[in-house]
Amino acid sequence: MSANQPILVVGSVAFDTLHNSLGTHPKVLGGAATYASLAASHFTDVRLVGVVGRDYPDDAIAMFRDRGIDLEGLTVADGLTFHWEGRYTDDLTSRTTLKTELNVFADFMPEIPESYRDTPYVMLGNIAPALQLKVLDQVRNPKLVVADTMNFWIDGARDDLLKLLPRVDVLVINDEEARQLSGRHHLVHVASDLLDLGPKSLVIKQGEYGAWLFAGEQMFSAPAFPMAAVDPTGAGDSFAGGFLGYLAGRDAVDPDSLRAAVIHGSTLASRCVAGIGVTDLLTLDAGEIDERVTAFRRLVDFPGA
Ligand code: AMP
Repeated sequence: MSANQPILVVGSVAFDTLHNSLGTHPKVLGGAATYASLAASHFTDVRLVGVVGRDYPDDAIAMFRDRGIDLEGLTVADGLTFHWEGRYTDDLTSRTTLKTELNVFADFMPEIPESYRDTPYVMLGNIAPALQLKVLDQVRNPKLVVADTMNFWIDGARDDLLKLLPRVDVLVINDEEARQLSGRHHLVHVASDLLDLGPKSLVIKQGEYGAWLFAGEQMFSAPAFPMAAVDPTGAGDSFAGGFLGYLAGRDAVDPDSLRAAVIHGSTLASRCVAGIGVTDLLTLDAGEIDERVTAFRRLVDFPGA
C-alpha cells in the first residue's frame, strides 16, 4: 500500500459577496472547489478542475500554488468569474441567495487533462449531475469517487442524478437534501432509500449537529465541534475536501478509515467556519488539526465505562 495518493477536485471557483452581522465582505475567494481543494491540501496533493474569468486575480492563483495545488485543470476563459452573493441571518442559522451570476461557469464543460485521468480519488463537487457523469467518463478506474449534490439538481435533474449515483462510492449530502431525495423523514429510512439508489456509502451532514456515516452494515455518528461560527460558507465543501483528502493521504478506504475521515472532514469544516471565506483554511497547520481531532475524540470518549 503506497500512502499519499492525489485527489481530483471538480467544481465551482468563485467570488463570493457575503453579508453577515459583521458587515459586507465583497468578492472574497469562494466556490465549492476552492474550499474542498484548500481543505484537502492539508492531507495530500490536489488537482483542481474548474473555470475562472480573466478578472481572477494573480494572488488567488498564488494562494492555490502556495498550498501545492495543481492548476493545470483550471481554465481561464473570456468573461467574468462566477459570483455568488448571500446574506446570513444574525444567528447564522440560515442564508438567502441574493445573486448567482454564473458568468464563465455557465458554459463549464469539465475537461480532465490527460495527466489527471488516472487520479485515484475523485471529488465531484456540486455541479450538474450530467457534468459529474462527464467527469467520470474521462477518469480511468478511480479507487474512490465522492459526490456532492443539492436541492436544485434533486428537483431539476433527477434522472441524471439517478444515473450518477450507482457510479459513486460515497454520496455526501445534507440532511434536508437527503430527505428530499428519499421522500421520507427518519434518517435510517432516508439512508436505506439513498443507499438503494446506488452509492456504496453515504454521509449525511447535519450542520451544527454533526454528521452520520452509513457504510454497509455500519453506522457512525460524529458531533460537530461546538463553537461559535463566524462564516458558515463552504463548511460542507471543506468537510468533503477534508474527508476525501484524509483518505487519499492514507490511501485507505476501509470502514475504520471512513470513520476517521468523517472526523477529519468535521475538523476542516470547524476550522473553515471560524473565519470569513477561506482565511482559516490557509493559516491552519498540522499540529492544530491533530489537536482538534483529539478534542473531537474527547467529546465522545467515556473511558470510565
Ligand atoms: P456551501 O456553503 O458549502 O453551500 O458552499 C458555498 C459555496 O458554493 C460558495 O463559495 C459559492 O461560491 C458556491 N456556490 C453557490 N452557488 C453555487 C452554484 N449554483 N453552483 C456551484 N457553486 C455554488
